[in-house]
Amino acid sequence: MRIDNEPKLNFEDVLLKPKRSTLSSRRDVDMTRKFTFRNSGKVMDFLPIFASNMDGVGTFSMAKEMQKHKMMTVITKTTTPEQWKEAAGTGLRMQSVSVCTGTNVMWDPEAQDWANMKQVLEMFPDVKMITVDVANAYHQNMVDFIKKVRDEYPNKVIVAGNVVTPEMTEELIINGADIVKIGIGPGSVCTTRTMTGVGVPQFSAIVECSDAANGVGGHIMADGGCVHPGDIAKAFGGGAHMVMIGGMLAGHDESEQPVVDGRVEFYGMSSDRAREVHGKRKDGYRGNEGRLISLPHRGPVEPTLEDILGGVRSACTYIGARRLKDMAKCASFVTTNNVINRVYERNTKKHRTNQRETGRQDQEVEFFQGDQESDTQGRPLLVREMVLCCTDTDSNRGQECWHDTTHRHVVWSIRHIGLGMGWIPVAR
Ligand code: 5GP
Repeated sequence: MRIDNEPKLNFEDVLLKPKRSTLSSRRDVDMTRKFTFRNSGKVMDFLPIFASNMDGVGTFSMAKEMQKHKMMTVITKTTTPEQWKEAAGTGLRMQSVSVCTGTNVMWDPEAQDWANMKQVLEMFPDVKMITVDVANAYHQNMVDFIKKVRDEYPNKVIVAGNVVTPEMTEELIINGADIVKIGIGPGSVCTTRTMTGVGVPQFSAIVECSDAANGVGGHIMADGGCVHPGDIAKAFGGGAHMVMIGGMLAGHDESEQPVVDGRVEFYGMSSDRAREVHGKRKDGYRGNEGRLISLPHRGPVEPTLEDILGGVRSACTYIGARRLKDMAKCASFVTTNNVINRVYERNTKKHRTNQRETGRQDQEVEFFQGDQESDTQGRPLLVREMVLCCTDTDSNRGQECWHDTTHRHVVWSIRHIGLGMGWIPVAR
């Protein structure tokens, strides 16, 4: 057994340090990047923020909004060739989307996602990117699969993931991937860390894996854990060449999900809900590593995209980066454990289960900023997921101790009035 005692950081543990800058306006920042990919040799020019291949995010409607800003979308792997055909005539730019597959074809020659991908690439040669997405890309199978995809599609840009360590980043690049997706467990509807105890804090994973990718001429895409535009800026500053987002785009009109009583479902792609929606059986071995949440409907995605781009642009001006590409070079960070002033916010908590009824000690709750679950534009104000650890019966002051799911902070709350009383960092 070995313990790596070097501190590993999440986005909320760091802040970009401002620097003297000659940029007079946010407009002066060049937000697009030209990439020359290592294995395909393809040259592509885009704004390197990706909509994730999740239900409610990786849709054609989302892609059409994303492409207006030269951003990219990975279309979900359950999207059929017929749906691609329908979308093709509606203004979709094929260069702005990636097709997606898993690795099931290695065991099942009839695997639907692989068959869909092949058909889509035949019908639309302008689709330049293939995303091979599995929750755990550490299997030797994955490496073999990437070699096979590279052999079959030598000129396509291959995105492979997910991993969180430098060695595996290198391994995937050396074996044919152009871009490696980084992130195990940071996602907004992901429960891998609580279900399996596996993961690496996302900011450190980005820093370490981008260094490894740069060493072998590859690229990385930071995937998961961005909650605010500033987190995307931190990911770029930490060395991510591209950033993928899911939850920040969920719940909008472009999610193509039904709105019921002003709310929209959003779920992890390894959740029971996803299996239910896509008619897959639970086989008794597969865990449920995603969760289902209900979001307030947020209207069109455009204002959210403007917020995201405005935030990242502004970060560039603060650190003197004339181009998005320069962010990692210009960035220096300070570590901190209290990055946001919450003086005007009140934490309210929402119990999933009532502890006294169930007698369970581990309950999941959601803490929201203020009294409401959403801001004036209907955007969710979820602060973080909390787990009830213990009740302070000794002092009998009716306090409860809540840990966030990364076990980095506790909140003491007065049980009777349900107010979060403050954040207390826990020693790591
Ligand atoms: P977010 O931007 O919402 O924080 O994270 C999005 C990312 O979470 C996705 O791109 C994907 O990598 C990951 N993800 C999506 N669904 C699941 C799931 O059910 N389980 C896990 N472990 N990760 C998921």
